Amino acid sequence: MNLAVDPRALARDAASAAAPDPLDWLAPVLFRTTGVPGVYLRTEVYEDTLERLAAWVTRLRPEGAETYRFPPVSSRKMVEKSGYLKSFPNLLGCVCGLHGGEAEIEGAVSRFEAGGDWTDATTPSDLVLSPAACYPVYPLAAARGPLPEGGAIFDVAADCFRAEPSSHLDRFQSFRMREFVCMGRPDDVAAFRDAWMDRAPEIADDLGLPFRLDVADDPFFGRVGRMKAVAQRQAALKFEMLVPLRGAGKATACMSFNGHRDHFGLTWDLRSADDAPAHTACVAFGMDRLTVALFAVHGADRAAWPARVRESLRL
Ligand code: ATP
Ligand code: ZN
Ligand code: MG
Repeated sequence: MNLAVDPRALARDAASAAAPDPLDWLAPVLFRTTGVPGVYLRTEVYEDTLERLAAWVTRLRPEGAETYRFPPVSSRKMVEKSGYLKSFPNLLGCVCGLHGGEAEIEGAVSRFEAGGDWTDATTPSDLVLSPAACYPVYPLAAARGPLPEGGAIFDVAADCFRAEPSSHLDRFQSFRMREFVCMGRPDDVAAFRDAWMDRAPEIADDLGLPFRLDVADDPFFGRVGRMKAVAQRQAALKFEMLVPLRGAGKATACMSFNGHRDHFGLTWDLRSADDAPAHTACVAFGMDRLTVALFAVHGADRAAWPARVRESLRL
């Protein structure tokens, strides 16, 4: 008998034994469970609402934006080079598989069928699960040479994965992100992000969501990471649209407004028209968070949602 304690089982137990959450009532309305925390099967009403929300975001799309849709997996090399591994190694999911010869693969499956484990025979592939929507767009743009005068704007989206299991409906492991990304000269990129932050009240009003805009930091991993988070906050590189979903409790970030300065410009040799390293910024819509927020704030019955919200979503 194996007496070793599996930390994953402990985490699962902890999640299922978690204290009741004010959002719990929504779970049976919006989702079916998979047994894995933060991974849900979505009901028709949820998915229809998210699709309507996506169409509303499309109507906000900046003029001239180039649109791409990215797969839920990304090149491992690309994500490593982007800096995600260094900053958030604990959140990254790597795609592994059985890559051995026939005998090795059969051996692994036989061990599983005999009640044992097959995963110790897996090895990493050249894919990771996409941790954010915008990463692929920087090398894509850089490969075309210097940006045009005035820079470039993109509309991108992806199914994202982050290893942050939670029993709460506003923190998934698998969730959808939509982003408007701007690249170019520092002033143009800063103006882009400022303009979107100025639009936050209109965006929140269209969706009938109470909100507060606040400076934020990313959960950089480890001791050095904590210093990076302080520096990020001091430089006001990240803002969030925080929506209170639990009364006076901690509000939920439903959108983020991120400035990267020349990080991606230098990483990918992405240049603006004057041949200087480009600056970049992204405005991210947490599509699943916004959808959950709509139901949490307005209730389960979409027919009873406020007129302005119904109009925004063409309900
Ligand atoms: P948080 O501080 O809540 O962890 P974040 O700073 O990690 O959010 P970003 O990296 O800025 O979030 O991602 C952009 C948007 O994607 C967020 O504003 C949020 O709406 C959404 N998002 C991020 N993580 C999750 C998650 N685990 N589940 C659902 N949506 C998420
Ligand atoms: Zn981004
Ligand atoms: Mg996070």
